[in-house]
Amino acid sequence: MINKMHKREARICLIFTGGTIGMQRRADGTLQPPDNPRDFLRVAPELDNIIELEFVPLMNKDSTNINPTDWTAIAEAIFERRNDGFDGFVVAHGTDTMHFSASAVAFALGAPLPFPIVFTGSQTIPEVSHGDARINLIRACKVASLDIGEVVISFGDYVFRGCRAQKKDEAKFDAFESPAFFPLAYITEQIVLQPVTHAATSRGDDWELNAKFASGIAQVSLIPGLEPEMLEPVLLSEQCKGLILLSFGAGNVPHEDPYSFVKLIHGSRELNKPVVIASQFPANATLHTAYEPGKAARNAGAIPTGNMTNSCAVAKFRWVMAQVEERLANAELEPHKKMREVERMMQTDYVGEMDTPNDEKGSK
Ligand code: ASP
Repeated sequence: MINKMHKREARICLIFTGGTIGMQRRADGTLQPPDNPRDFLRVAPELDNIIELEFVPLMNKDSTNINPTDWTAIAEAIFERRNDGFDGFVVAHGTDTMHFSASAVAFALGAPLPFPIVFTGSQTIPEVSHGDARINLIRACKVASLDIGEVVISFGDYVFRGCRAQKKDEAKFDAFESPAFFPLAYITEQIVLQPVTHAATSRGDDWELNAKFASGIAQVSLIPGLEPEMLEPVLLSEQCKGLILLSFGAGNVPHEDPYSFVKLIHGSRELNKPVVIASQFPANATLHTAYEPGKAARNAGAIPTGNMTNSCAVAKFRWVMAQVEERLANAELEPHKKMREVERMMQTDYVGEMDTPNDEKGSK
């Protein structure tokens, strides 16, 4: 829907995927996506006076049900419209998995971007008059008209790099944080962009979409006393292509029997199935843990994820594995190089998702 009646500040493509920001309360009290996604436009009717909007009702889901095929669909929807003259894209999305989708879309489209891609959502449904649905949508549209060349999450008073953000609260309007990287902007009367933000940069005709994400990735969050043998059937299953262990602290994984994970990591390596170590905290150090238990996991062949958030590590691992599997299938990569290639790609910074050993880049 393009309204060209009067001059507006920017031309924005609004992609609706679902989430609380568009939900309605049913008679039984449950919150559900709207019957007609176009109802979403009623959230902020005044937008029509501020920007020129094209609305794309792409899907209508609680983001709990968003899966990697949906990440691909969101990235494709943006890529297909890349030359349509939009100043920016806004993706309305549920908060539960917004940080996964924002990371995935960032990897799919690469860096830098010629326009901002702004994910937003809300904690309350539009019916709550003091809630955040209307204001977050308006703010996201404003952010999408700025000179930003990144996938970002605009939520409450902040704009974060999407692949650095994670959800921190289930109810407060200040729902997201960026634990290892500065906010890209503060939303006050002015939207104050910080110098760490990448400006929009044109990509040219050879810009390719890379929006495949592998299936068969499992993740286990470590707890004291977890028996590694319980995970063997998962690793041995044909479906499983790789495992992410959510470690304690800075990449630390138990290395003392009977709970040592070292044998499992070794075994997985022999199966040619990578084990990735992310952290229950977005620590700064799964790349260089100083602790013995972290080193033991590294020495056994586990791949650290530096200071990436877990959601980013999950999206990246699926993205890396899809490319490696494809190159193996096309005989562009020799099978014995698979594990090294997965490790190399996991430790390459593609879209500003992690600090690498040689750069400071403004991380906290
Ligand atoms: N369950 C909702 C969703 O992620 C929560 C939200 O949007 O805040 O779609």
